Amino acid sequence: MSENAFAFRLEANDGAARVGTFTTPHGDVPTPAFMPVGTLGTVKSLSMEEVGGLGARMILGNTYHLYLRPGHELVRQLGGLHDFMRWTGPILTDSGGYQVFSLAQIRDISDEGAVFTSHVDGSKHLFTPESVMDIQRTLGADVVMAFDECPPGGSDHAHAREANERTLKWLVRCRRRFEELNAQGAYPAQALFPVLQGNVYDDLRREHARQFQDVGDWAGFGIGGLSVGEAKPAMWRTLDVLDEELPFDRPRYLMGVGYPDDLLEAVSRGYDMFDCVAPTRNARHGTAWTSEEGQVNLKAARFREDTRPLDPNCDCTTCARYTRAYLRHLVASAEMLGFRLISIHNLRFLVRLGEQARRHIAQGTFHGWSGDWLERYRGARG
Ligand SMILES: [Zn+2]
Repeated sequence: MSENAFAFRLEANDGAARVGTFTTPHGDVPTPAFMPVGTLGTVKSLSMEEVGGLGARMILGNTYHLYLRPGHELVRQLGGLHDFMRWTGPILTDSGGYQVFSLAQIRDISDEGAVFTSHVDGSKHLFTPESVMDIQRTLGADVVMAFDECPPGGSDHAHAREANERTLKWLVRCRRRFEELNAQGAYPAQALFPVLQGNVYDDLRREHARQFQDVGDWAGFGIGGLSVGEAKPAMWRTLDVLDEELPFDRPRYLMGVGYPDDLLEAVSRGYDMFDCVAPTRNARHGTAWTSEEGQVNLKAARFREDTRPLDPNCDCTTCARYTRAYLRHLVASAEMLGFRLISIHNLRFLVRLGEQARRHIAQGTFHGWSGDWLERYRGARG
């Protein structure tokens, strides 16, 4: 019953690029869509009213972080993740796999699951495919992700194959547990996305995509294991390979992407949903994206007397009200407001890029527009 609350409707395409609407119990998500990351139940430094005001329709939460702090049972007790953080739109939680393998100290990984020590207090924990489904149900996200093994970027073929095999075994167990919870009438309704791995090995990518579809039908697909340090051409080739393998009528979520130019490249190859911590992480270092000058760092001396908005083409509240000179002063003084104002701009920049892509795909002008956009963005001085 639960997945009936979800649907993906494709509305237009321009080449491989697509416009769609992903329907969830907490509202519709027009795609292509960038989803701000709310790691610990917060998109760093912003209120949920501000995040909504940026045009974001769906946001992320991190299972690993919320499980450790404040704890998924406490979140449920306080009304579930939506109510706890006061976000009324759809939420996607990741499985924690990426954080377990990147942040935590792994003690032991086996077919059973992953034993790790918390990066917060060193305590020992076990994540299994079943427990990760339980935690995400308890948190109450709309879309939950299957537990996967994400091997480090640059892993050799044998290691990548091993991770694929384990991820497939875990996927079958995730699905079984997910269906058990549905059969129990467990609230709320959720959609489960699998996470494809396979590094940049075409054979492993194809095999994984086929194996996943043999397991069953899916409400959408997560593409993992990219943007982990591989060369860009290898990433684009992998996306082209998966475009051939994945059903066209399911949303495709490219995990951990991205930067503005990566997002457009992926949209042009048929991908729909994106997330990345770069907008707020870059803001912390004074780095902002602009449509005419590419990526800029506001610490640069040339902004000292610059009274123009950060990006004259941007419609965010930062660009409407503040000068580059003021932003530079805030960044140079390590003022919290500088971080907030640049975060607002960077997040709006990506959300708006999704909106612009959507409009151009519908008009059949996407490829010319994105080609010009990328040329200008990449040609600009940083
Ligand atoms: Zn702006």
